[in-house]
Amino acid sequence: MLISIVVPCFNEEEIIGRFHAHVTAELDLLGQEFELVYVDDGSQDRTLDLLQEIAGADSRTRYVSFSRNFGKEAAMLAGLQHADGDAVVIMDADLQHPPELVRRMLALHEDGFDQVIAKRTRKGDRVTRTVTARAYYWLINRLVDVELVDGVGDFRLLSRRTVDAILELTEYNRFSKGIFAWVGFRTTTFEYENAVREQGRSKWSFGKLLNYGLDGLLSFNDKPLRAAIYLGMLLLGVAMVYASWIVGVAMVNGVDTPGYVTLLVAVIALAGVQMLMLGVVGEYVGRIYYEVKRRPHFLVKATNAGLPRRDDDRN
Ligand code: UDP
Ligand code: MG
Repeated sequence: MLISIVVPCFNEEEIIGRFHAHVTAELDLLGQEFELVYVDDGSQDRTLDLLQEIAGADSRTRYVSFSRNFGKEAAMLAGLQHADGDAVVIMDADLQHPPELVRRMLALHEDGFDQVIAKRTRKGDRVTRTVTARAYYWLINRLVDVELVDGVGDFRLLSRRTVDAILELTEYNRFSKGIFAWVGFRTTTFEYENAVREQGRSKWSFGKLLNYGLDGLLSFNDKPLRAAIYLGMLLLGVAMVYASWIVGVAMVNGVDTPGYVTLLVAVIALAGVQMLMLGVVGEYVGRIYYEVKRRPHFLVKATNAGLPRRDDDRN
């Protein structure tokens, strides 16, 4: 059995050498055949040079390097396309995903699980981030069709057929948390203690997280569009009741002209709701726009990995 380790790397020069040493040492202990597929996501530092050095010294290593930063989702896709393994493990380059856990993943895979997910605890995270994450997942699981779990990331083992299924999904907007959940197959989860990043820093800013959150909400269902319809009906109902009440009062008491504030508030509130809903519709139109362009997910600048094992016509 061949095991592929897919590693997206973006500006990881400080740690990539150590990562490689650590992961190969760990995998050697398993006594299984393995390969490493590094994807350099357009790093601006020496990551690519180091990967080339590593690949020169270790024939089990392949790398794919992008022409610019296309994002971790694209990097994972490239890695999965190039992975030849019967089982594929996706792992971060920053050693936050302990390579020791691969053993456990493999054992569970041998028990018949297609996806073995390592779920991290939120130990060492800032309280604000933990609380927002909780609230977000509580909310989103009421809204979207696939189940998204807090602490579950991309660190997981995938069986061959799961990888093939994932590669069938060729959408441009790749929200992999949703994609993994969507393909299904026999899935199991185990917990591990979160490790704090040792070197370099996280590429997640608050703005990026916010956008990621919105992606989660919009990528996997059309419920926000439904919500617009229901909200519209509700407002229309309220307006009709209020209108008949005003007419009634006018018929009984005659006409007078108060209500300037009511008018103003109603106009502003409705304008706000309309903007919001226009934004929701716009998001979907924007997604369609990107999908119909059918641009490749990434462009390759340098590689020693040959052609991808599996490819759709635009990566
Ligand atoms: N990464 C990437 N492209 C990006 C951002 C990140 O390939 O645009 C890689 C990064 O090198 C790392 C992994 O994705 O291996 C996770 O990134 P990071 O550690 O910054 O995220 P966090 O652990 O904070 O969620
Ligand atoms: Mg990290």
